[in-house]
Amino acid sequence: MPLKRIHIGPWKISCDPEETQAIYAKIVHGNPEVCRCWGCLNFAVVRKEVHPPSAVSVFEQLGIDLYKETDLLHVDVGVYRGWYHFIGRMEYGGHEAVDIGNYYKLDVTDAVERSSKLFGNLPVAQINFLAREVRWTLSSPESDEFLEDSDEEAISDDTAYNTV
Ligand SMILES: [Zn+2]
Repeated sequence: MPLKRIHIGPWKISCDPEETQAIYAKIVHGNPEVCRCWGCLNFAVVRKEVHPPSAVSVFEQLGIDLYKETDLLHVDVGVYRGWYHFIGRMEYGGHEAVDIGNYYKLDVTDAVERSSKLFGNLPVAQINFLAREVRWTLSSPESDEFLEDSDEEAISDDTAYNTV
């Protein structure tokens, strides 16, 4: 099936929303539900409020399921970066992130990171989001996630020794 050309913000994108949707239907969980670290658990709670309506509409146009992030990184207090893949190509528009709403940016790229095998040999592009001021809902302080914590490494070292 030929790719459909759509225009989103500054980008001209070729995509196949129906096929992309079919692939997302086969993915069981997004990265936060798979990883389950505190940062991810928090994101899963607030996910719906993080993406502004205009971003949700972009994902819909591309056939992406909002709940199935390819990857999610908790990069700083209140800040998350995540991405989704879709069948298609970025035809035009540069790789600059575009502000969508106050604390939210999107960018589209052909430089795909860790693409799912489900996409096979199809052309795959990636849409990244960067969200700031994301609400923290867990009882342990969010800043604990970013402490230089040597204890944690010590524990995993012990665990490693125990398995030898
Ligand atoms: Zn995580």
